[in-house]
Amino acid sequence: MPRDEGFTDEDDEATPDGAKRKFDEFECPACSAHNPYEEFGNNDEVLCGYCGLSLKAIVDAEGKLKLREA
Ligand SMILES: [Zn+2]
Repeated sequence: MPRDEGFTDEDDEATPDGAKRKFDEFECPACSAHNPYEEFGNNDEVLCGYCGLSLKAIVDAEGKLKLREA
């Protein structure tokens, strides 16, 4: 299992470890509500606090967050 050595949150260079990035908020794709959230990352499920939609977080290699309906 790879360890998180020296991983920083800088966006300046694309790192293949982007998928390990953690988020603490998201915007619901269904109702556009801004949801502060406990820490979540790739493949975690989050729940919109406004419309109740269950979403799966997908973080790509560049550390970009996408949300899909779970
Ligand atoms: Zn929503």
